[in-house]
Amino acid sequence: MSSFADREGVAADLVVETDDGLQCTACAHRCTLSPGQAGICDVRRNVDGELRLLTYGQVFDRPTGPPGTADPIEKKPLYHFHPTTRVLSFGGVSCNFACEFCQNNHISFAGPEDLELRDVSPEEAVESAATQDCAGVAWTYNEPTIYAEYVRDGARLAKEAGRYTAIVTNGYFTEEFVEEVGPYLDAANVDVKGFRDRPHVKHMGAKLQPTLDGAKLADEAGIHVELTYLTIPDLNDDAEEIREFAEWARDKLNPSVPVHFTRFHPDHEMRDRPATPVETLERAAAIARDEGLEFVYVGNMSGHEDNATRCPDCGAVWIRRHGFRASVAVDLDGACACGRPIDVVV
Ligand code: SF4
Ligand SMILES: [Zn+2]
Repeated sequence: MSSFADREGVAADLVVETDDGLQCTACAHRCTLSPGQAGICDVRRNVDGELRLLTYGQVFDRPTGPPGTADPIEKKPLYHFHPTTRVLSFGGVSCNFACEFCQNNHISFAGPEDLELRDVSPEEAVESAATQDCAGVAWTYNEPTIYAEYVRDGARLAKEAGRYTAIVTNGYFTEEFVEEVGPYLDAANVDVKGFRDRPHVKHMGAKLQPTLDGAKLADEAGIHVELTYLTIPDLNDDAEEIREFAEWARDKLNPSVPVHFTRFHPDHEMRDRPATPVETLERAAAIARDEGLEFVYVGNMSGHEDNATRCPDCGAVWIRRHGFRASVAVDLDGACACGRPIDVVV
């Protein structure tokens, strides 16, 4: 475990020099930092004229035992990517957003000096995946973009060891991030938290468009993308807003991008409204299907029938899910009985 005093970090690679200072190019905030200044994310800092990632290899984890948490891949959620496998998951502290409803606020709103963190090198992370019988490694729980160089190094080693890699992200990354890290990433679940810019800035502390651009960049780079739309009552659940989101997903990504409408629970600073009614999620899913999206799920609702993957052409069930347990009903390498190729990465 290490304290802030130990945290010299490593020199960041995602940086350019400008007349005004060092500009971090990991995320779309593109913070320009003079000596001593930290970025919005707090974990990248200009230290004596060099941009340093202070939390390289420092994760929020139990202090002993093999590092990382073995999760079902379905929990990310990634439903069309190596179903039924376990993925070793890591996260650190802080974020480049400030979502009032954050369900991981104990880490995302913590700075690098606030919590004890565990030192886990990329090598140890990948070794732990083997020890814990995990098919892949994921960077999740807090925003991985802000510790891009750690993700890159771990993902590269994981790929060399024959494991898949994934991130769960707000998508607020840059072209430079995708160039640097993308070659080692297999999958990304991108959280789109609404489709209107003003509430996005007000309640999340960041603009909407870079997230949309990030999802598209990842898709174009050949990374398997799934979208999560956290559906919040009276914030982003308007039918027209959902329709525009679905149109964007269909036209700018593709009609077969999996979309998860997930349930909001009151948390952190947003406790003024109830959990999302199931009817709202079902209505959002119906709108998305109506707009031509082929794989639409209702998330955070164990046992809901919209957790199953069905053939968009004939309705045959490909994968059943209950909670995070999945059972595959077809040969995922083959085609559906109706002839449609199965849109699942294995
Ligand atoms: S990752 Fe984003 S928030 Fe953090 S320093 Fe870089 S540009 Fe700023
Ligand atoms: Zn079919």
